Amino acid sequence: MNDCIFCKIVNKEIPSEIVYEDDYVISFKDIQPAAPIHLLVIPKKHIEKVTDLSVEDEGLIRKNVYSDKFGG
Ligand SMILES: [Zn+2]
Repeated sequence: MNDCIFCKIVNKEIPSEIVYEDDYVISFKDIQPAAPIHLLVIPKKHIEKVTDLSVEDEGLIRKNVYSDKFGG
């Protein structure tokens, strides 16, 4: 059983205010914002640690960095 909160958000098992979504990443508003606009961007694929990344994930990481910096 997967208890990962981010996977549950991706699978819509936990409601969240989704502001952006594509095949690879999902972005939603933090439920406890530390700033007026506080968005989280996470990959849809569950990645436990950086060391779990594989070569196929390269595009995913690039996409994430881009989304973080430029807001999608
Ligand atoms: Zn997960």
